Amino acid sequence: MAPSLVDPFERTVNYLRLSVTDRCDFRCVYCMSENMSFLPKKDLLTLEELDRMCSAFIGQGVRKLRITGGEPLVRRNIMSFFDAMKRHLDSGALDELTLTTNGSQLGRFAGDLFAAGVRRVNVSLDTLDDEKFARVTRWGRLAQVIKGIDAAQAAGLRVKINAVALKGFNEDELFTLTQWCASRDMDLTWIEVMPMGDMGALDRVGQYWALSDVRAKLAEHYQLQDLAERTGGPARYVQLVETGQKIGFITPLTHNFCESCNRVRLTCTGELYMCLGQEDRADLMRPLRAHPDSDAPLIEAIHTAIGRKPKGHDFDYSRQQASGQMTRHMSHTGG
Ligand code: SAM
Ligand code: SF4
Repeated sequence: MAPSLVDPFERTVNYLRLSVTDRCDFRCVYCMSENMSFLPKKDLLTLEELDRMCSAFIGQGVRKLRITGGEPLVRRNIMSFFDAMKRHLDSGALDELTLTTNGSQLGRFAGDLFAAGVRRVNVSLDTLDDEKFARVTRWGRLAQVIKGIDAAQAAGLRVKINAVALKGFNEDELFTLTQWCASRDMDLTWIEVMPMGDMGALDRVGQYWALSDVRAKLAEHYQLQDLAERTGGPARYVQLVETGQKIGFITPLTHNFCESCNRVRLTCTGELYMCLGQEDRADLMRPLRAHPDSDAPLIEAIHTAIGRKPKGHDFDYSRQQASGQMTRHMSHTGG
């Protein structure tokens, strides 16, 4: 029987989310502070080490790999990593290789990503208004992202849009965004904003907007059909009967998905987070670097870490107070 990673609560871990860099060409207010200091290069896993890590996980039963960041497409030579991962798709060991991106570099890389076997990308986009886009991303330009999405679709990649729900910011664009996505045959997923890092800047742009309210507003205009589809993550999906498109709701602050959690997150420094909402992590860089010729200690460290995967997380947004607040930024674990 092929090896598998099973945690103490009988959950099979077959999905790895890998952050390949902490750097980004944007500074989204809910994700980063304006003056971020980034990790020195020596602390990062090299592309060859990222390959070794992923291959070890795939050898232990991981079947889906999502590349994220920071902005994954700003890491130098990242396409050689995607090209290398293609061998796991070709061998049938991996079912899917995907990425989450801000879209700014898709104009350059969409074709190469398709050639490497990527078929779907998630593009984060919170607004279709130039000025608001510049405000929320601080450094981003909307036109460049739209060009990136055009290039991705032209290359044959299926695009899903992820939007962070922000009260007082994109509330008024609920229907515009929905219709724009429908017109381009794209699904749309709303993400509830999470209490990460320094949230001061967020207060100046928008605030927590409960997805139950997003859903209720959508239901005033569309017929919503619940989909049974479960991804093992915090997303729930409905289909809009009128457009046929899928709308997702990611509510990471609720506990209702932990029992089916199938994923772990690896940072660009080789730290494995077994739960997005917990600080516990395992250092996988050490066993990897200490044993350049053998993966056995790394594989053992992976199994030990999965053996510590917690039952659930501690986020609690009750009374608008973010207890269980994480000190690290999303750009560290990749969301
Ligand atoms: N740079 C890429 C991007 O923006 O898609 C990948 C990394 S980014 C950290 C991954 C996702 O996390 C994005 O969709 C972003 O909107 C989301 N995100 C970042 N900070 C967040 C927060 N505090 N709460 C909820 N979602 C957040
Ligand atoms: Fe960069 Fe993505 Fe974070 Fe925005 S959400 S700052 S694009 S990593």
